[in-house]
Amino acid sequence: MKIGVLALQGAFYEHRKMIEQLGAECIEIRQLSDLTSNRFDGLMLPGGESTVQGKLLAELGITEPLRNLINAGTPVLATCAGLILLAEEIEGGEKPYLGTLPVAVKRNAFGRQLGSFEYTGSVGDLKDFKMTFIRAPIITAGHSDEVQTTAVFEDKIVAVKYRNQIGLAFHPELDQDTRIHEEFLELCKSFSLNK
Ligand code: GLN
Repeated sequence: MKIGVLALQGAFYEHRKMIEQLGAECIEIRQLSDLTSNRFDGLMLPGGESTVQGKLLAELGITEPLRNLINAGTPVLATCAGLILLAEEIEGGEKPYLGTLPVAVKRNAFGRQLGSFEYTGSVGDLKDFKMTFIRAPIITAGHSDEVQTTAVFEDKIVAVKYRNQIGLAFHPELDQDTRIHEEFLELCKSFSLNK
């Protein structure tokens, strides 16, 4: 299983460690050739700063090829800034980056006081999952009936699944619980069997 992790900025190393711990191969995507010279079973977009990541994506010519892979069904796990990169709409008029996920997001939705915090709750079928939020966005609207809400914190949507795309406002890679990454690898496995 070969997973590409976008490694332009942010918390990509932690995702890589977790994926490797689960027995998959991880390739860091730092330039266009990393994307075009590999066949990936899955992709990960880490947290960090979406404006910086989005600008680098465009400068390096990666936006369009990455968008095409996602639209072609490659499973993608996106956390925090990664979720913002996927979103079709960013509140406040910012131009979307990849725009493959039919949702609206609001950046830094918890304000300064609640900049970082933890909350334990369900994520899809997974019970008691510790969610670590760091200057996190929320999902304010789904633009398709196929967008499923998988986690909520105080009435705010913090995780969604849409076809091959998983968007999380929190950071599972920063804790020890590997269940979300395991589920993601299962999705990648069925994609690679069918491609
Ligand atoms: N606040 C960041 C942004 O808007 C996201 C924070 C994160 O990825 N932890 O891009």
